Amino acid sequence: MSNGPYYRGECCCGEVALLATGTALAIDSQSGQVRWRQEDLQLAQGLLDERDMNGQKLAWCTECGQQIWRILPERGDVETPLSLWPFD
Ligand SMILES: [Zn+2]
Repeated sequence: MSNGPYYRGECCCGEVALLATGTALAIDSQSGQVRWRQEDLQLAQGLLDERDMNGQKLAWCTECGQQIWRILPERGDVETPLSLWPFD
């Protein structure tokens, strides 16, 4: 268990919240994505609509339909929309 930093991310309707217990691997403002290690990211609140598409696992908020994450097949890292997070 790490001592932080901790980040809380939320979808636009606020139903789904993520907790990140580590530092982001990459923040790409060009593509609007933040990449995390899977073990550093957990669902803190809400219900996800999870689907397999082309070998990737994607999840959306069941309320507002915003994409929450995409698990990259190569290394199991998780990509999340930058708009979920309190990063600039
Ligand atoms: Zn939502």
